[in-house]
Amino acid sequence: MQIKIGMGYDLHRLGPGRRLYLGGLHVPHSRGLVGHSDGDVLIHAIIDALLGAMGQGDIGRLFPDADPATKDIRSPALLTEVMGRLKAKKLKILSLDSVIVAETPKLAPHIPAMKDILCPLLHIGSDQLGIKAKTNEGLGLIGRRKAMACWAVALIGKN
Ligand code: MG
Repeated sequence: MQIKIGMGYDLHRLGPGRRLYLGGLHVPHSRGLVGHSDGDVLIHAIIDALLGAMGQGDIGRLFPDADPATKDIRSPALLTEVMGRLKAKKLKILSLDSVIVAETPKLAPHIPAMKDILCPLLHIGSDQLGIKAKTNEGLGLIGRRKAMACWAVALIGKN
């Protein structure tokens, strides 16, 4: 089996008047992530991990933020496009792990619902997807609730 690994990272600022989306899930919160798309750092980090493993650049190259077609687009649509690229190369996800770094709100209760959305999109079972949430212990921009970030690592392969 041919195996490849990729890592992804993303950060978006938090701002008023935006809905907070993480892993495709609307998480009730006073502010949301600011971005050209919906600012979903979890999906964006996953996309970069998958593109990295395929050697196909990064999300900014695939979906330029100057493109009006992707303005305010929901990130699951971007992920679906990337999964098409994976399928075209007969690659599948073997394992995917991620860490969201956010001071508030408490994300642990929302992780099962995020997995319910992401597993079908990624064509993997719940035991192949890790989503973890950490705070930044009040430190830095994330600790001061100015931003959220996410790390992801993907193992992909084909027979
Ligand atoms: Mg992003």
